Amino acid sequence: MWRRVASLSSLISSSNSSFHGQVPAACRLTIWESLTTGIAQQAKGVSKEKTPFITFVLGGPGSGKGTQCIKIVETFGFTHLSAGDLLRQEIASNSADGAMILNTIKEGRIVPSEVTVKLIQKEMESNDNHKFLIDGFPRSEENRIAFERIIGAEPNIVLFFDCPEEEMVKRVLNRNQGRVDDNIDTVRKRLKVFEALNLPVINYYSQRGKLYTINAVGTVDEIFEQVLPVFTASEDQEVSAKELRKSSWGKANRS
Ligand code: UDP
Ligand code: MG
Repeated sequence: MWRRVASLSSLISSSNSSFHGQVPAACRLTIWESLTTGIAQQAKGVSKEKTPFITFVLGGPGSGKGTQCIKIVETFGFTHLSAGDLLRQEIASNSADGAMILNTIKEGRIVPSEVTVKLIQKEMESNDNHKFLIDGFPRSEENRIAFERIIGAEPNIVLFFDCPEEEMVKRVLNRNQGRVDDNIDTVRKRLKVFEALNLPVINYYSQRGKLYTINAVGTVDEIFEQVLPVFTASEDQEVSAKELRKSSWGKANRS
């Protein structure tokens, strides 16, 4: 496992693989469909005037999820919810679950789904924005199913930052953020958990045509170049869908 240099994308069954500058027609169609056929369904667990637009941001430890989320927020006005940060805030606030969360994170395991989903739900409910980047979640099929059950929504887009393992290890051990889990033993465990539990989630979204795989090796700007068209296309399609609804053609064809 440690010597594997090949990117994880070989383990993913099919994918809207990375693209450069132009979103392929198939991807554009997927995004258009998600905006017009109700996949962006009403979220029962989040009371909002507008239907939430949800992006899940997935990838192994150190694959650059958080860094790219900052750029997506700046450019496209999403609200960034990092599941790991929400869990670390729970530890810091000495909440009832704090000690359990700390032990789980130290061991590189996954916190019970209900705990994480409730934290995400609270943030979604208290935020006026309807566009959310959910970073580092869902980490397992159980996480995914709990989100769908409690929030009552599916993501519109799933980004997967695909990075070779030795690059992820190097980044995590060099990042010096004082995290209890950024040590070689815990990183090994996190990578095992990622491969066993998170890759099935990535495969699931690939099969549903929602996955956008980004090659996570390169400079921050080079990687963002691949991320940009995913959201530019979704913005274009959001505008087109609105125009279509307003136009007489749209009205005539809806009846
Ligand atoms: N974690 C979890 N559920 C989540 C997100 C994070 O249990 O939905 C825990 C898990 O133990 C993980 C740790 O928090 O290893 C750190 O997660 P984060 O996303 O901050 O870091 P990453 O491993 O992606 O670098
Ligand atoms: Mg992170």
